[in-house]
Amino acid sequence: MKFGGTSVEDVPAIQRLIGIVESRVGSQPVVVVSALARVTDQLLEAGNAAAKGHLGAALAIARSIYVRHEELADKVVDRSAYGALDRELRSEFQALELLLHDLATSRQLDLKVQDRLLGFGECLSARLVSAALQESGLKASHVDARSCIVTDDRHGQASPLWDLTNEKVRDVVASLLQAGSVPVMGGFIASTVDGVPTTLGRGGSDFSAAIVGAALDASRVEIWTDVDGVMTTDPKLCSDARVIRKMSFDEAAELAYFGAKVLHPATIAPAMRENIPVYVLNSRRPEGEGTEIGGRAGANRVSGITAKRNVVAVELHSDQDIDSSLLNKVFTAFDEHCCAVDVVGMSIGRISMLVGSTAALPEIAARLQGAVRMQWENHRALVCLVGENLRRQPEVASRVFAAVSDMDVRVLCQGASDRTISFLVDESKVEESVQRLHRIFFSKAEPTRDWGGTSAAFCQAG
Ligand code: ADP
Ligand code: ASP
Ligand code: MG
Repeated sequence: MKFGGTSVEDVPAIQRLIGIVESRVGSQPVVVVSALARVTDQLLEAGNAAAKGHLGAALAIARSIYVRHEELADKVVDRSAYGALDRELRSEFQALELLLHDLATSRQLDLKVQDRLLGFGECLSARLVSAALQESGLKASHVDARSCIVTDDRHGQASPLWDLTNEKVRDVVASLLQAGSVPVMGGFIASTVDGVPTTLGRGGSDFSAAIVGAALDASRVEIWTDVDGVMTTDPKLCSDARVIRKMSFDEAAELAYFGAKVLHPATIAPAMRENIPVYVLNSRRPEGEGTEIGGRAGANRVSGITAKRNVVAVELHSDQDIDSSLLNKVFTAFDEHCCAVDVVGMSIGRISMLVGSTAALPEIAARLQGAVRMQWENHRALVCLVGENLRRQPEVASRVFAAVSDMDVRVLCQGASDRTISFLVDESKVEESVQRLHRIFFSKAEPTRDWGGTSAAFCQAG
């Protein structure tokens, strides 16, 4: 059971969490928690301030995080347990202060240090929630996630080393379950084989829950969050969004990959591999049915609309043919500058790609000079329609593009899957384009609809 930041943010949230965990106690739950809402962003802010030499500002943020946890601790555990929890929280806080002092001296917030810094949020929340569960009478045990989730050293976005992780999770967590305990661990955080702290990428606690669920061959993974389930689009973008009751692993993976923040994109793979259903549920309305993710995709239908902001569209032009050696050169340059490429398209003499930041682009362009000419545009967003066999339904694409024909959109040809139709739009047009598409495909008059099967292959020109 994974509880996100808003599901542990204050006393009422923690009380609801206790009730939800109690209701599952017969099924031997493992609890994975995120940092309290906003704490990860605050830690990042503190780190940036310290690295710029603003140590006072950095320490003030750290103290406000500490005070927030202490105040909560004071309310969720009684006097006798408070002392031990207070010592644990204080020792984490002192380590955080020390790190900020070091940062103010070194002035270098690289991804390795950042992983150590951001992990404090989950270290603090896991201690707090574990103590709150004990206080409620449950036999809960805090587990240091860094002692059982082992990853490579790609700081900021590490990947699990599956065999080692499975072995350690089974060793540490399964033995607690056998002893009748409820293990409580921080999501998002992990460590390398040598014990150096890593993180699984922003929003990575969902992934942690799936990693643990897969290692233990759990009967289900539950993601407890602040919305009623996976919805037809982000309810913050469109108030008509509605819950999708059931969806396939493939559809959910695609929605997450293309920006549905409700699930970290890596969450589905381990669950799918072990065929473990994933439920997305609202911790503020635990009686709701939520979304069940599992199994294979069914009928052809539009299942959801996503939007990914902060997209940079990069164009590379070459006077020669684009062959494997040129592609190799290009991708090696992006890889070595840690610039993840989301979407790639190719045509004669041209490679188009989407990346998440402009930071490394000037250096990459300099490195590729002579081989390709590179230019880019930022402040773009990728709007994507997801559903089974969409590319084989020309009528879906024509309705999409008719709906946004008056906007300055760029259609993408991605080729990799039949499940998406996407286009680039200026960031300022995200809400409007999502709302228009939602009205077309999910209006009350036209409920989620199956599109008659046609086998015509369809690919939008790029
Ligand atoms: P948590 O802190 O619980 O991990 P997140 O903020 O990471 O929660 O994810 C939940 C948020 O995801 C929702 O509040 C919602 O605004 C956003 N969201 C984006 N797309 C979707 C979608 N398709 N369905 C549901 N929520 C979505
Ligand atoms: N606390 C981390 C973040 O904000 C991980 C998570 O919430 O899943 O990204
Ligand atoms: Mg999340």
